[in-house]
Amino acid sequence: MAKEMISHLRKITQNLWWCWHPEVWQLFNELDPKIWQETNHNPIAFLDMLGEEEIAKRAKEHALASRILYASLRLDEYLASAGPASNMEAGPLHVAPVAYFCAEFGIHESLPIYSGGLGVLAGDHLKAASDLGVPLIGVGLFYAEGYFQQGIDEEGYQQEFYGRTNIAQLPIHKVTDKAGVPLEVSIELAGRSIKAHVWETPVGRNRLIMLDCDIAANPDEDRRLTTQLYGGDHATRIRQEALLGIGGVRALKLLGVSPGVYHLNEGHSAFATLELCAQLMEEEGESFEDARDRVSKMTVFTTHTPVPAGHDRFAPHMLEDALSSLRERLRLSHREFHGLGRINLDNADEPFCMTVLALKMSDYCNGVSHLHGRVSRRMWKDLWPFRKTAHVPIDHITNGVHTSSFLAPQMRLLYDRHLGSDWMPHMDQPEAWAGMAQVDPGELWEVHQILKSELIDFVRERVRLQNAPRGDGHNRIMPGQNLESDILTIGFARRFATYKRADLLMSDMERFEALINDSARPIQIIYAGKAHPADENGKRLIQKIVKLTTDPVFQGRVVFLADYDMNVGRHLVQGVDLWLNNPRRPQEACGTSGQKVVLNGALNCSVLDGWWAEAYDGKNGFAIGTGKEFADPGQQDIHDCERLYDVLEQEVIPMYYHESSSGLRREWIERMTWAITSLGWRFNAQRMMLDYLRNAYLPAVGATTSS
Ligand SMILES: *Cc1c(COP(=O)(O)O)cnc(C)c1O
Repeated sequence: MAKEMISHLRKITQNLWWCWHPEVWQLFNELDPKIWQETNHNPIAFLDMLGEEEIAKRAKEHALASRILYASLRLDEYLASAGPASNMEAGPLHVAPVAYFCAEFGIHESLPIYSGGLGVLAGDHLKAASDLGVPLIGVGLFYAEGYFQQGIDEEGYQQEFYGRTNIAQLPIHKVTDKAGVPLEVSIELAGRSIKAHVWETPVGRNRLIMLDCDIAANPDEDRRLTTQLYGGDHATRIRQEALLGIGGVRALKLLGVSPGVYHLNEGHSAFATLELCAQLMEEEGESFEDARDRVSKMTVFTTHTPVPAGHDRFAPHMLEDALSSLRERLRLSHREFHGLGRINLDNADEPFCMTVLALKMSDYCNGVSHLHGRVSRRMWKDLWPFRKTAHVPIDHITNGVHTSSFLAPQMRLLYDRHLGSDWMPHMDQPEAWAGMAQVDPGELWEVHQILKSELIDFVRERVRLQNAPRGDGHNRIMPGQNLESDILTIGFARRFATYKRADLLMSDMERFEALINDSARPIQIIYAGKAHPADENGKRLIQKIVKLTTDPVFQGRVVFLADYDMNVGRHLVQGVDLWLNNPRRPQEACGTSGQKVVLNGALNCSVLDGWWAEAYDGKNGFAIGTGKEFADPGQQDIHDCERLYDVLEQEVIPMYYHESSSGLRREWIERMTWAITSLGWRFNAQRMMLDYLRNAYLPAVGATTSS
């Protein structure tokens, strides 16, 4: 019996499906909450650490055996059924699936091959495709050290640590041939051949493949190519991107997968299109022009940032050094080849831009929010000199978040009670959320307060551990220990890029202090986020905030959580009252954390940028300003910071602390309810996936859609 149960558990750990099914991962938590946390929620590491005997004992004590068996059956059932979209709509993709290329995938904290928003979105995309039954295969790189882990030193300055991920404790395996020999992909780069093996991991009904150069067949330098995500210099970057694009296409071919659609999620992988052209020319004798027509019909490109520095650009000599053999295979002149990544073909100094290449090679292109679509059309209009800006062929599909990955289990239960047990498969339809109108305000508030207390416990413990090695002997304030569950709690977590203005609220220190320390209506703020290792300004911002956390003036009500990852993110979005987002409009392409917050019953307070510009209706959260843009960023900051203080002082704080005669915060809770009702159905990954399916994928395979 015990043996059988353990084998069910082991089976479950081998498909990342477990990570978006709370009733499954909660089993691990119930077996041993401490070890579950210590292993950073890695179930394979967890089973190794606890040991089979102990597992059997605990499962018996806690009567978990039948639930473990049930979870295992649920997984079998899930895999055996095709998913709701499968027969109805996604039919043509069964023979020719979508190949979804991305430089990072954030599926769960235990598989650290992501850095932030782009990766988490890609993870959500895979999960939603699986749930709906859209045949899709993820293509990425395996980074042995992932992105860096963040520490904070005595001076409040960010330190970067790199540790190798223990592959034996990941649900990934090398793809081999029948004889057990690993599949080997090789690409021509800088005059030599670089080889990679292919890892594979099941993600529900679909899978993700990852290329890895750390193999004996490569010289040392090449072995390190895939060690770190977004590490190294431009030369590393172009080689990683060539591996992802060119190597990815070759890996699919070796696996016997013939995609009907190539989806380039961000420009990093755009060399894939050129590899496809070269193959068509070599195998079918086509001209470059004909090959290009065929390839662009099957290619979908999603751009993710309006920030110019966010688009990879390579100096002409770098492209030539790395990929001259590709140019020769395509039988293109230097001018033609380099021109594929240029706006002005005749400007020999113009660097090669991966976004330009992707835009030129894809028939369907999109930004990730309504506003970002518009900004992208303006940004790239020179590529279509004879079109009006409004007719530049860049559409938009607004991002959405994978609901069951970010929804607190307690909120899930509340929805199950009021929306009906079958709301999840219909979550992209407004009617599915209509039951919110019947939710008792007291019940919603109670669930929220429980989640908030859990967040506060998490923060206290985390801050204690994070500060322990620093040996705080003297009487400094311990940040976080004074957090209280009846104080308005604000969350602010994201990459510390300067345009996101993490310190906007501190522009006027006196006003900031007055907000924190108001005797009747105080606020407390939890910050988290990493700065890119090369971003000195971002690190200074972190330092500025960390210094406040131990300043007695702020009473420990300003907290910085080190090492932001999906786990920290989940706790934050599930427990705060208010999510603060104040980027310099229009530089935030979409932003998704605010969407996660809304699903969990908190309110979004944001500049009208990204998704919020199309989502805010005056009653479902709060707006900072009215979306005004300035040519001078300094002026914009001054303007926006006034609006930020205004909205907090005049709207948010009074509303939060106002209790009606019943003793409940009626107005605030009404806003929570309306936020969920008006936003829940639109900003989830299921709606997003159906948009991609209908507007991008099916047209790319030449299928017409019914709706
Ligand atoms: C959701 C998420 C992001 C993306 O958040 P934005 O609001 O788009 O900045 C980044 N990192 C983690 C860990 C997340 O969970």
